[in-house]
Amino acid sequence: MKTASANCPVCNKTVRAFKNEANHLIHGLTTVFTCGLWVIVWIIAAINAGKAPWRCQICGTPVEPHV
Ligand SMILES: [Zn+2]
Repeated sequence: MKTASANCPVCNKTVRAFKNEANHLIHGLTTVFTCGLWVIVWIIAAINAGKAPWRCQICGTPVEPHV
């Protein structure tokens, strides 16, 4: 899970924002145990995680993090 600071319009202040990411360690191990078959699931999970929005850690509203 990544975190960054962002302005939340609901909390009306600067908050910590978080974003869920694919757990590459777990996916890597599962890929080994399935003789490489799991790599398909891994790729899909990585793409979905990339599309996930940043969310306010207090109220869960999607926010734009500061760069
Ligand atoms: Zn908020």
